[in-house]
Amino acid sequence: MNTNEQCPCAKGAVSVPQEELIDIIVKSIHAVLASEPRQNSSPRDSGSHSLRIPLGISNRHIHLTSKTFQHLFGEKAEFQTMRPLYQPGEFASAHTLTIVGPKLRSIPGVRILGPLRNYDQVEISLTDAVFLGIDPPVTNSGNLKEAAPLTLVGPNGSLYLEKCAIVANRHLHMPKSDAVRLGVKEGDFCRVRIGGEKPTVFENVLVRTNDNWKLQIHLDTDDANAANVREEAFVEFLGKMGTTI
Ligand SMILES: [Zn+2]
Repeated sequence: MNTNEQCPCAKGAVSVPQEELIDIIVKSIHAVLASEPRQNSSPRDSGSHSLRIPLGISNRHIHLTSKTFQHLFGEKAEFQTMRPLYQPGEFASAHTLTIVGPKLRSIPGVRILGPLRNYDQVEISLTDAVFLGIDPPVTNSGNLKEAAPLTLVGPNGSLYLEKCAIVANRHLHMPKSDAVRLGVKEGDFCRVRIGGEKPTVFENVLVRTNDNWKLQIHLDTDDANAANVREEAFVEFLGKMGTTI
C-alpha cells in the first residue's frame, strides 16, 4: 500500500504517512492511559465512589491516673500538654516513661497521652510485646482484666503494674451522626480496606461512638506497616461484619 495514498472516505483530509499515523495513535492511547487514575495506586485513590475514612496510626503510648503520674514524676510535677491530637480534647503530653518487661528488656521514651484517666494502661504493638517478653490480650481500651504486667520507670520513681499492657483493638472513632450514615452502632465490628502497594483488608474493626469525636480509624504500627500505609492516608469503609466476633 502506498502510505501517502489518501483514504477514499476522507475527502479533503490531509494525507498522513502510515508510520506517523501509528505514532499519533500510540501517543493518544498513552495520553488516555496516563490521565486515568490507576487502581489502588495509593490509599487516596482507592474506592473513589466509596466512603473514605481518615487514618490515625497509634504508636505505643501510656494512659495514667493522676496518682500514678505524681508517683512517677513527683508530687509537685504538673501534667503538661505538648500538642493536641486529632480527636478533640485528646493530647500528647510533654512526659515520657521507660517501660520494662520481665526479661528486663526496656523501651524508653513512651509518651503519656492526656487527659489523665481513672486507670493506668500501656498500649503497645505485638512486636513490642514480643520484644518485652509479655503476652498481652488484643482488646478494647479500658478492658484490663487479662492485661499483661510491666514496670513503668519515671524520673521520680518506678511502679510495677500487674495488669496494664494491652494491644488495642483496631477501632473507629465517630460521632453518632456518622454511625447512622454508615449504618453501624457502638460495639459493631466492620471491615475496611487499604490500597497501595500492599493492599490489605482489616476485619474486626470496632465501632466506638461519641459526639465529641471526629470520624477516624486507629490502627497500631504493626497493622499500618503490614499495609505499608502512613498517617494522613484514607481507608475505604467496606461495611459491618456483625455485632459479635
Ligand atoms: Zn483510638
